[in-house]
Amino acid sequence: MIKRSEHFVAFTGAGISTSTGIPDFRSGINTVLPTGPGAWEKLAQKTGGSNSNVKVSMSKAIPSLTHMSLVELQQQGYLKFLISQNVDGLHRRSGFSTYHLAELHGNTNLEKCSKCGKEYMRDFRVRTAQQVHDHKTGRKCDNQQCKGDLFDSIINFGENLPEKDLDDGFVHSQLADLHLVLGSSLRVTPAAEMPQTTAKLGKNLVIVNLQKTPLDSLATLRINAMCDDVMKMVMKKLKIEIPEFILQRRLVLQKGDKNSLLVSAEDQNESPYEIYKKVSIEYGKANNIETKQKAPFSFTPKQNSFTVNLGFYEHYGEQEFKLDVDMAALPLNKKVVYQIQYQVSLQKWISCKKL
Ligand SMILES: [Zn+2]
Repeated sequence: MIKRSEHFVAFTGAGISTSTGIPDFRSGINTVLPTGPGAWEKLAQKTGGSNSNVKVSMSKAIPSLTHMSLVELQQQGYLKFLISQNVDGLHRRSGFSTYHLAELHGNTNLEKCSKCGKEYMRDFRVRTAQQVHDHKTGRKCDNQQCKGDLFDSIINFGENLPEKDLDDGFVHSQLADLHLVLGSSLRVTPAAEMPQTTAKLGKNLVIVNLQKTPLDSLATLRINAMCDDVMKMVMKKLKIEIPEFILQRRLVLQKGDKNSLLVSAEDQNESPYEIYKKVSIEYGKANNIETKQKAPFSFTPKQNSFTVNLGFYEHYGEQEFKLDVDMAALPLNKKVVYQIQYQVSLQKWISCKKL
């Protein structure tokens, strides 16, 4: 079906992240999954808090075989659009194109300006509010003309979904001739109406989930199995290798007036991305060093050539990255972007290229 498709769309739920150690919501108390019962089931059973199941925080989770298969299927041109109900941010972190992704229920690492709509990614959980319907994070938009309040992007029950993601999701569901649901019980609307739209137009709907879903009777094919197992077989049949997860970071240097230097980072769609815990610049001898522990990481270097040391949040154990800089070679008031890659399995930065 994937090979024959012209507009293949995938739809993911919490079930694709359970193999990464993030618990889902609806798995029963006797589930076979290594993460144990889903969060809701646990609340119901009052077993929350004290069990020894494998779990990792969302920031440290490693994208699964399913996440990485989807990255490759999109890059090879098979997958045209991805709709996700997950807030763990793993699709975006896995390197999946943000231009082909709708995160219907938000992203735990993403906050948005309430006035101008500018997006900010952070390498930490952005939500700080305690009340369900309070989304203010306490941070402000860094656009000097705006300075609006930033809001986390998490959608709680009863709240409206982000318009663009919602529209994109429905448009692609109408265009789809194959809609593949992975790890969702399809009980949350309006999200679940998206795969339903494709099926009602008489196109192929395939559902991979361990539990029954309300759309099972509409499905062309219903697979009762773990998503990673299914995707491994699908990729083998397509003769496409599943890539290993490589953490990608985009470093940004900008030379300003009076020979100043701003060190920042961005996501693949150029949204600012807060990824540094500290930044220092080092001239020749190691004891001649200037360190900043908080953004903005702005310096006025004393010499033309030096090394910038970037310190990260280390969710994947990523060590400092060193970048040699020549101020004379940097253009004035223009971003210079480097892409660096970290191989989690080797715990090593493996490449750096200027974009
Ligand atoms: Zn703003």
